[in-house]
Amino acid sequence: MSLPLSLIDSTWTLFLDRDGVINERIVGDYVKSRDQFHFLPSVLEAMPRLASLFAKIVVVSNQQGIGKGVMSVQELNDIHEKMTETIRGEGGRIDLILFSPDLAGPGSFTRKPNIGMALQAKKRFPEIIFKKSVMAGDSLSDMIFGKRLGMLTVLISTDHALARENPRVIDFVLPDLKALFTSHSPSHPESQP
Ligand SMILES: [Mg+2]
Repeated sequence: MSLPLSLIDSTWTLFLDRDGVINERIVGDYVKSRDQFHFLPSVLEAMPRLASLFAKIVVVSNQQGIGKGVMSVQELNDIHEKMTETIRGEGGRIDLILFSPDLAGPGSFTRKPNIGMALQAKKRFPEIIFKKSVMAGDSLSDMIFGKRLGMLTVLISTDHALARENPRVIDFVLPDLKALFTSHSPSHPESQP
């Protein structure tokens, strides 16, 4: 089963996780400055194409480094300015960046897998239809977030184990964002040995 690109028209929204999807994730730490922000290969190439495919592109990012006090909102905004300006320079587009500063654990409405950031996006862009949205992320919480809203979910990973264990919340597994539109036979968890 391949990603039904033919379904996707100019009324669709792409929700993107940030760390591990757009930029290299720093395992066990946070991207705390623009110098630590490094785009993953092919992302800058993929973004212009995604911009032409989707009506809106919204970044939804858990950033508990803010809640922990290891970085400030201003530092995060500075990182995001670099991200959006670089993407724009390559002909791409990010329409909205949302982040949850909350700590992991119960009690956060905005931290994925809770859906607060999606509702914030819809408030900003009422034309967003969750059932006509794709959520691309590299963790299970991204996939649960997407499924709670009826989105198509794409796990950005080269490892299919998570998808095999969670087939109901992960629709597709692709190695990177570019594969969203270049892969003619994207891997579906159930088709893997
Ligand atoms: Mg991530």
